[in-house]
Amino acid sequence: MSIDQLHTTLERLCNLLRVEAREHGAGNGLLPVQLEALHYLRECNRYSDTVQGVSEYLGQTKGTVSQTLKVLEKRGLVKKQPDSNDRRLVHLQVTATGRKTLDKVVPAMFLIEALKSTSEAKIGQLTDDLKGVLRAAQHARGAKSFGACITCRFNETIDGDFRCGLTGETLIPKDTEKICREHQFPDVIDC
Ligand code: SF4
Repeated sequence: MSIDQLHTTLERLCNLLRVEAREHGAGNGLLPVQLEALHYLRECNRYSDTVQGVSEYLGQTKGTVSQTLKVLEKRGLVKKQPDSNDRRLVHLQVTATGRKTLDKVVPAMFLIEALKSTSEAKIGQLTDDLKGVLRAAQHARGAKSFGACITCRFNETIDGDFRCGLTGETLIPKDTEKICREHQFPDVIDC
């Protein structure tokens, strides 16, 4: 398969995801971008659940993202939580209502239906392959990787405890599975 065909295939899949997000979002009074921001906030760690983090992830200005987040907050899907150490920093936490809303949309119903006869091993392989494409594409565009601790060059394990070498903080296992705006693959060199 040529790269041209791969591009077309990815584009068509992305279109289907957008259509589904639009339909479900409309049912919940939300735009696809608002669902996308909510999904990101559910998946990201405590270094990334800020207006800046959402802005970098979505590739939108902080002003645009603030409008998106205002809607989510007004609808009771996210709530603001001041940082316990730095009161100037505000975290955005997904509420129980926000999680319920996402559970109806992610994963997309058409994906569940399309892959219902596919083995877990094959889905895992497909996911790994696509992650590889994503990583290479992010590298080519100079985009942030937004990966999890397991593949991060700052990840440290000391006496069985996880530690972020960048912040110097200990991480609970659940935190290490979340995506992070500070994530860097080991082969990324500071310029
Ligand atoms: S180890 Fe990397 S991914 Fe994990 S919290 Fe630190 S910077 Fe983020």
